[in-house]
Amino acid sequence: MPLKATQAIVIGGHNLGEADRIVVFLSRVAGKVRAVAAGARRIRSRFGGSLELFTYGQLLYFERPNRDLHRVSEFGILHPYAGLRTDLDRLGASAYAVDLLRGAVEEGEPPGGLFDLLLGILSELEEGRPPAAALRAYEVRLLALLGYLPELRRCVGCRRAVPETGLASFSPRQGGLLCAACGPAAPDPFPVGPEALGFLRGALRAEFRAAARAALPAAALEELRALLRAVYLERVGRSPRSASFLEALAASAAPLGDVNG
Ligand SMILES: [Zn+2]
Repeated sequence: MPLKATQAIVIGGHNLGEADRIVVFLSRVAGKVRAVAAGARRIRSRFGGSLELFTYGQLLYFERPNRDLHRVSEFGILHPYAGLRTDLDRLGASAYAVDLLRGAVEEGEPPGGLFDLLLGILSELEEGRPPAAALRAYEVRLLALLGYLPELRRCVGCRRAVPETGLASFSPRQGGLLCAACGPAAPDPFPVGPEALGFLRGALRAEFRAAARAALPAAALEELRALLRAVYLERVGRSPRSASFLEALAASAAPLGDVNG
């Protein structure tokens, strides 16, 4: 079994047998990796508390070729993100962010920019800022990196440029923005006001942290939440697991409880 080394973030896991645990990582090199941490639930486990949800570390694992379940050798903490597990709001927002990503990536696929994006949102949330704008910026970037957010400049109906002032709409099914004239004919139009549109465009251009700290009115945040959720559903084909928040809560109360993976 070849020994592989990569940076990784714990994005899920569940108990196996008497003392073991299956841990799901997002790794920088190989995307989603599922691996058995033997003896992880023993009191004197060599893994200590390192395998808790959101922990960022250096992973050494034995790769079992043609199998989807590998074996953890070591996991050295680079940053524990412990602050995300001690506050309910941060925990919920972080679990949601992890959930969106976990639902959209396949095992063994290099994650590209998704790895740093996940580190970025976990850092923002750990610093305790209001999560709404940060989560919307994360969703925009996530969808763009997955190739699911193609058109934000021109109307997908008539190809005319859509100005940033005035009303427009977005059609998840048609995969893009619609001008005020074409919007009403769309099967599933979501309204997009000027602030929301400016945010969508800016979040793709700006540095992630700057986008995550944008000040937006509540109405614009709600427009963005609804349309980004709809795009995710349309393209990924399933909603983020609704139970994830409770799973994460359970895991935080009992560090080695179930956090579905
Ligand atoms: Zn149009």
